[in-house]
Amino acid sequence: MPNRIDIEAVCAERGLRITEQRRVIARVLSDAEDHPDVEKLHERASAIDPGISIATVYRTVRLFEEAGILDRHDFGDGRARYEAAPEAHHDHLIDVETGKVVEFVDPELEALQRQIAERLGFRLVDHRMELYGVRLERD
Ligand SMILES: [Zn+2]
Repeated sequence: MPNRIDIEAVCAERGLRITEQRRVIARVLSDAEDHPDVEKLHERASAIDPGISIATVYRTVRLFEEAGILDRHDFGDGRARYEAAPEAHHDHLIDVETGKVVEFVDPELEALQRQIAERLGFRLVDHRMELYGVRLERD
């Protein structure tokens, strides 16, 4: 849904050394629309370059995360999931039965959170919102 930053381009801008394997992992991350975990990233990256080990994927996601170009999430199942930092903020709703992640933005919710922070004497600079649900039966 949201436009995600181009990891390769950001690395180039910041002078981060990008090896061929990192480039593959960056591309897999930029193309992902499903918040993959490391195993899934490794599956996709090694389909492109079989020489990419899971250890390389771990190291690379840590590097990208430290550089602030990758967001790490924990959606309640104990596995770290990743997404290329989106250009614009969004929140997540997690289907607890399937693990599917739905992205959303709600201007009223954003405003309400700012108001709450202000009421408590803060200027809001960031937040994370995760909703967990089961799909309603619809027929
Ligand atoms: Zn997301």
